[in-house]
Amino acid sequence: MRVILLGPPGAGKGTQAASISTEVGIPHISTGEMFRAALKNGTPLGLEAKKYMDSGELVPDDVVVGMVNERIQQPDCSDGFLLDGFPRTIVQAQKLGETMEETGLKLDLVINLQCSDKTVVARLSGRRVCKSCGAIYHVENMPPKQDGVCDKCGGELYQRDDDKADTILNRLEVYRNSTEALIDYYRQKDLLKDVDANAQREETLKAMLALIKK
Ligand code: ADP
Ligand code: ZN
Repeated sequence: MRVILLGPPGAGKGTQAASISTEVGIPHISTGEMFRAALKNGTPLGLEAKKYMDSGELVPDDVVVGMVNERIQQPDCSDGFLLDGFPRTIVQAQKLGETMEETGLKLDLVINLQCSDKTVVARLSGRRVCKSCGAIYHVENMPPKQDGVCDKCGGELYQRDDDKADTILNRLEVYRNSTEALIDYYRQKDLLKDVDANAQREETLKAMLALIKK
C-alpha cells in the first residue's frame, strides 16, 4: 500500500501516520522529520533546510525530491509507505510520479485531511515534540503523563520554532499557495479521499484505516 497524506500543517498527518504505520506495518516517511533529524546531526542537508524551515518556507523542490527518491527505494519500502509532508508542490508530485513509474511502483491512495484554520492554529500552538524520538504531544489534547517529558523514551519535550504564532500563519499561507492545488491534482487522477480531521484523533484514525484496509 502506497499512501500520501495531504492536509494543512496541524491537520494531524504526523500523529495519524505514526499510528497507521504501527497498525499496518509500513514505514512512515515524514520529510519534515527527516530534515529535523539531519539538522540535529549537523549535516549539510540539515543546515540547508533550516534556512527555510525556521520561517515556514518550503525547502527547494530538488533538495526534497532527491531525498525522498532515495528513501522510497530502501528495502523497508518494498511493501509500501506512508508519505507525510511530501509532495508539497505540483512539481514534487510530478517528480514522484516519474520516479514511481520508472521503478514500477503504483500509488494507491491519497488521503486529504480536511481541517479548519481554527483547529490548525490551536493544534500547532499547543504542539510539543520529543527531542530524542520525535513523538508528538499536545499540551491540552494529548498531554504527556509528566510535564515536559516524553512518555515513550523519557526525552525532553520542546516547542518547534516554526510552531510559534507568526510562523504558523506563514505556513498556512504557504500551504494555500503551493500545496492546496495537490487536492485537485490527485482528485483528477481519481486517487483522492477526504477525511474530516477536525474530529477526535481516534475517530479520524478509524476513518483513515477504513480507507487503507479496503
Ligand atoms: P508540518 O507540521 O507543517 O506538516 P513538517 O514537519 O512536515 O511540518 O515540515 C516542516 C518544514 O520542513 C516545512 O515548513 C518546510 O520548511 C520543510 N519541508 C518538509 N517537507 C517539505 C517538502 N515536501 N517540500 C518543501 N519543504 C518541506
Ligand atoms: Zn521520546
